[in-house]
Amino acid sequence: MSHLRFKVVEEAFKKRPTFVEPSTERPSAYFGKYVFNKEKMNRYLSADTYEKLTKAIEQGAPLTMDVADEVAKGMKQWAMDMGATHCTHWFQPLTEGTAEKHDAFVEHDGEGGMIEHFSGKQLIQQEPDASSFPNGGIRSTFEARGYSAWDPSSPVFIIGDTLMIPTVFIAYTGEALDYKAPLKKSLGAIDTAATAVAQLFDEKVKRVTTNLGWEQEYFLVDEGLYAARPDLLLTGRTLMGHESSKNQQMDDHYFGAIPERVAEFMKELEIRSLELGIPCKTRHNEVAPNQFELAPIYEECNLAIDHNMLFMMIMRNVARKHGFRCLLHEKPFAGINGSGKHNNWSLTTDTGTLLHAPGKTPEENLRFVTFIVETLMGVYRHNGLLKASIMSATNAHRLGGGEAPPAIISSFLGEQISKLLNEIEGSHDDQHLTLDSKHGVQLDIPQIPELMVDNTDRNRTSPFAFTGNRFEFRAVGASANCASAMIALNTAVAEALTNFRKRVDERLTNGMDKTEAILEVLREDIRTCRPIHFDGNGYSEEWQEEAKRRGLDCETSAPIVFDRYLDNQTIEMFENMKVMNRHELEARNEIKWETYFKKIQIESRVLGDLCMNHIIPVATKYQTLLATNVHKMQCAFDDAELIEQLTCYNVDLIKKINKHTKFIAEAVDEMVEKRKEVNQIQNVRSKAIAYHDEVAPYLESIRFHIDRLELIVEDDMWTLPKYRELLFIR
Ligand code: ADP
Ligand code: MG
Repeated sequence: MSHLRFKVVEEAFKKRPTFVEPSTERPSAYFGKYVFNKEKMNRYLSADTYEKLTKAIEQGAPLTMDVADEVAKGMKQWAMDMGATHCTHWFQPLTEGTAEKHDAFVEHDGEGGMIEHFSGKQLIQQEPDASSFPNGGIRSTFEARGYSAWDPSSPVFIIGDTLMIPTVFIAYTGEALDYKAPLKKSLGAIDTAATAVAQLFDEKVKRVTTNLGWEQEYFLVDEGLYAARPDLLLTGRTLMGHESSKNQQMDDHYFGAIPERVAEFMKELEIRSLELGIPCKTRHNEVAPNQFELAPIYEECNLAIDHNMLFMMIMRNVARKHGFRCLLHEKPFAGINGSGKHNNWSLTTDTGTLLHAPGKTPEENLRFVTFIVETLMGVYRHNGLLKASIMSATNAHRLGGGEAPPAIISSFLGEQISKLLNEIEGSHDDQHLTLDSKHGVQLDIPQIPELMVDNTDRNRTSPFAFTGNRFEFRAVGASANCASAMIALNTAVAEALTNFRKRVDERLTNGMDKTEAILEVLREDIRTCRPIHFDGNGYSEEWQEEAKRRGLDCETSAPIVFDRYLDNQTIEMFENMKVMNRHELEARNEIKWETYFKKIQIESRVLGDLCMNHIIPVATKYQTLLATNVHKMQCAFDDAELIEQLTCYNVDLIKKINKHTKFIAEAVDEMVEKRKEVNQIQNVRSKAIAYHDEVAPYLESIRFHIDRLELIVEDDMWTLPKYRELLFIR
């Protein structure tokens, strides 16, 4: 076996679990140990400051500088008691990761010495000279000022020696340079719109909160094997590799016993996460070999997203301690499932939940139906945008692959709710509708069954499925910042709810009865958003056809899907809901297109290098070996027929190898030329489209021939760890 591959495979095989000391404490005791949560606020802040801060957190009341100073004092004391020496604003630039810049807690004391210092101003605002973050032209470098501002609704925490302060990141002009700023605005928008609608049913409702429960899928690969695969190292996915003879076809990995080395990793991952306040709950093996999942208990959306960003960071760090690399790429391996991040989304009021049925009263049931229908309206009206919100160069590999949601957004509702909506839509204005508490929602004629929403008939092929008390947005990519999807969804639903309330109000002004007014608008909307509702098999080919007929967005090219962000109805929606303006949307799209083409560009370069430095030399070496054998046979015997018999197989292989290497060498040349040509394009959208249409196809065609060679070339000579090694060693 080739030297490096042989070595890393052997080492990986011999690795034993890194055992994690069992904690003597219960999880409830160390949960939030490194978080400045209510308990610590209580301990480190005066009663007055505590009250003002809680009010700011819970009701969004502004904080004055003197209160901030008091908060900073308490926080600093806590952080120092915990051994922290530095602090950083922690923000989410448009790179899918997080960013930080650390400052020590020190100041001159004016007498030649130093004192520990941390002021309210430092807590509230920083100006990281972050001119290298993508900004899509919002900042030109000469006025590179962007600043980060504290988000008191997400608690500060400590990692190592650093106090981490969650912040928004905005330009000097106030335009957003991150995910959190528009996310918070979208949460405000849905709060306002949903509260107004909820008040139609219950005047006491003051607030609506959005919840998110994410499920994070990931792969683990032994670190040594990972290091021997330059494609994994540089692009996060394998650009080549023949399928392992055994894959996921036995379904023996899903929910199987967790391998010990992985179990120890998970144990530590959960401890570290719980200490940082992430409420980990569920863990299991996923469908593909070496694929796993973790899901916490759901939380308020903004906090849940911070926790997911933090969690991805913890995953990467803990994996390395256990000799693994954690892969968050949506499609690290061809031929087996990729990784997603299901976003379970729901709304609750300060008095109860909004997406849960059956309610206790007829009013609650009607409210439930209203929120379901208006969510569908938002998703229907902006289905193209929702797809754009989850689209990326990496997630594009996963969508539509018969293993993940198709690249068409639709919603699964299940039999009972579908039936209910049909009944409501079909009922006539003169038909009396009873909303009976005991029997759930009922229509006089025909009767419909009690509203018992089960989640047994869940449809795994739906990208946006209703699952009993929440919608599950399943198209989100494993490596993505959930905020992108949540911003689009929240704003779309906020817009639908705003329109709903407006139309109901018009009817009320005209003297219509409230229930009648609500039902009339609902009927209209159920009819309108009918095309988004699909309970069938989303993986099927018929659905592709059907979706087209229904007018749903069926585009699959990522750079063109991004156009949906600049449709008039999108811009109107974001501007009306005061979440983002046209300029911000345009800037963000520049970044999307740029990120897209750069990813393909890197993949194409890496593949080219590997072809020239690994694949062709290895294949040629094996070819030479075969040729030597042929030559020796010719020297050893003089019977032409015998020689032919002895060498025909090798000659055949030599020809095959030649066919593949020739194709690869020529295609790599062409690909390089194509890249040069496409790189000349100035317009970033056109460039991304050119990369998609003209460069990306080479990745597939070249790969095909490499994977053939992998089957032919003697195993000993092959330099790169194979799928069977990457996927089955743990
Ligand atoms: P499954 O894989 O069957 O979808 P999991 O248990 O893996 O289920 O994950 C379910 C996720 O949904 C968890 O993150 C959970 O906290 C979240 N969840 C449950 N109820 C709600 C709700 N009402 N709103 C938002 N998220 C929820
Ligand atoms: Mg799920």
